[in-house]
Amino acid sequence: MHVAGIVAAGGRGTRLGTPVPKQLLDLGGRSILQRAVDALEATAGVQELVVVLPPEWIDHPAAAVSAAKPLVRVPGGARRQESVARGFRSVSAQAEIVVVHDAARPFVTPALIERTVAAAAESGAAVAALPARDTVKEAQSAPGVEGARAAVPGGPGGGLRWVRRTLPRETIFLAQTPQAFRRDVLRDALALGEKGVEATDEAMLAELAGHPVRLVEGDPGNFKITTEADLAYARWLVGSPAGGWTMRVGVGYDVHRLVAGRALVLGGVTIPFERGPAGHSDGDAVCHAVIDAVLGAAAAGDIGSHFPDSDERWRGAASVELVRSVGCKVRDRGFRVANVDVVVMLERPKIGPYVAAMRAALAAALELSEECISVKGKTQEGLGPIGTGDAVAAQAVALLVGSR
Ligand code: MG
Repeated sequence: MHVAGIVAAGGRGTRLGTPVPKQLLDLGGRSILQRAVDALEATAGVQELVVVLPPEWIDHPAAAVSAAKPLVRVPGGARRQESVARGFRSVSAQAEIVVVHDAARPFVTPALIERTVAAAAESGAAVAALPARDTVKEAQSAPGVEGARAAVPGGPGGGLRWVRRTLPRETIFLAQTPQAFRRDVLRDALALGEKGVEATDEAMLAELAGHPVRLVEGDPGNFKITTEADLAYARWLVGSPAGGWTMRVGVGYDVHRLVAGRALVLGGVTIPFERGPAGHSDGDAVCHAVIDAVLGAAAAGDIGSHFPDSDERWRGAASVELVRSVGCKVRDRGFRVANVDVVVMLERPKIGPYVAAMRAALAAALELSEECISVKGKTQEGLGPIGTGDAVAAQAVALLVGSR
């Protein structure tokens, strides 16, 4: 059995707002398109490949694709069905089965392609699909308005905010690609498209042409990259250093001598006591440890490089404001603080009554929920300078989540 694969990569993918169509974007060292091509390449039964590209991108380096199997690149049309029809015209004469796959689904597996092809060889047409897991509601624009769906502008779901009815979930499947067809079935289906029938996939054209279409068990991992979040998730899945969601951990430590005549400020909270930390700023060891943890996670230097004690601007500075400033600096680098955990090492006084206020002050400075900030006190059992009440120290750990 001779099988041809058509990769539908003709879309402009303008929704992501990138200069390059989404299927040509890098995903861990290969383009999204190349990953889709590689899956077909790795599918033993597929003998030849046709890649349909936006005409204006066909010679662009970003659209380069490679495969060991015979591969032709074809300029697409204005709509998906035109693009697939153009691809179909480039399929070799001996192809008996044609499998169509969206370039924007880079995680398709050879196993899924094979079972879709096998079902089409048996039944004429087959589509990979997932059973609906959630309860399915059909929507309408206003209660009791019949036929409202067609009248509502704004694309899928636009303006439809009322339930019309609940559909029996057991009968609902969500179509993916691959979709595979016997050659004559796809010819019929695409001919219908060329007559002006609009469809969102080739299986729909085959249905409208009167051909039975088999459902093949799809793969939740075979998702379509449509939104920026999909792209970030895809990049995270492949561990792409160029993007995705990255997690970064940082650690910070600070110690200050405790002297008479200074206010004891910790975590932005002034605690009544007869001694306070010596220092250029307010000597808030908790804030200083947090700053170093956050900067450390972003590999963005340390407190001394951002707020040097040789700079008069920071004399007597409220360190909790420096925490705020550091939160902004890491946000500018594409990170957000996920959580912070602090250990305060202090013999006296007990910090317990002030922990809630410290958490609130740090949370406000970092624009986080208080639930994401932990502050714990620890005495030193009388040992060392902290144990004798001559110093206060703090350790902090911060987790940053990067969106790039
Ligand atoms: Mg310090």
